[in-house]
Amino acid sequence: FLMDQQDKKVREQLAKIKHKIMVMSGKGGVGKSTVSVNIAVGLSLQDFMVGLLDVDLHGPSIPKMLGARDLRISRKPDGRMGPIKYSPNLKFLSIEPLLPSEDTAIIWRGPIKHSAIKQFIGDIDWGELDYLVIDAPPGTGDEPLTVAKTIPDAYALIVTTPQEVSLIDVKKSIRFCQKIKMRILGIVENMSGFICPHCGKPIDLFKRGGGQKLADEFGLRFLGRIPVDPRVVDTGDTGRPIIAAYPESVTAKAFEELVRNI
Ligand code: ADP
Repeated sequence: FLMDQQDKKVREQLAKIKHKIMVMSGKGGVGKSTVSVNIAVGLSLQDFMVGLLDVDLHGPSIPKMLGARDLRISRKPDGRMGPIKYSPNLKFLSIEPLLPSEDTAIIWRGPIKHSAIKQFIGDIDWGELDYLVIDAPPGTGDEPLTVAKTIPDAYALIVTTPQEVSLIDVKKSIRFCQKIKMRILGIVENMSGFICPHCGKPIDLFKRGGGQKLADEFGLRFLGRIPVDPRVVDTGDTGRPIIAAYPESVTAKAFEELVRNI
């Protein structure tokens, strides 16, 4: 009975959200959270109502990237919890504010992760949203599986880098989606080329085009490439993602194009 109640709450909440996108990657450090944050902020700048949910239970980085370290989860008059407000039309939630301290280690097995993620959706009053962007941990473990099962109409957006290792890993993410019948929105190639800090022009540091090739190979859409830009890291630390902090930059424009392709 409790399960039914929870599933009902999850369904009711999801019915109020038009589009759900889970951002995935084959391995860590390819810029999955960076892409999630810039997409979410980019969509919110286009006046959409956006929610950003960090289900990276072991290494949540969204609050830091949004400069929201000290914010607490709000409680509504009816006792329900609400997500954290970043701007009038962007709300986000991660496990970090729910932890006693920043360095608390989460040691949870699959079933507990499963119910935690369901609570993030069912027990939190997200309200009406145009987009819910979900930042999943790297790989194909419990978290992305739970998201896929809980949100059957979610699309996967897969982030990769031009390096080959990442491309091998990312194939596993594609196979995972195919196996569990999760639709794939497309592929994003991050850290593709380098923006010179002196002249602001793009330089091809590594081989580019792997993301496009991969998309062609699997019959997927290629959604765009984002260059390596030192300012991505700065803004990651100050809480204003590059798409908002440097809207005129080549990198912000690349993120804007990505947002348009969604
Ligand atoms: P993931 O979520 O895949 O583990 P992150 O988004 O946390 O990766 O990015 C890993 C690191 O790389 C962070 O320090 C981030 O600021 C940096 N980074 C990500 N994308 C870029 C980019 N396009 N240019 C420069 N640095 C980047």
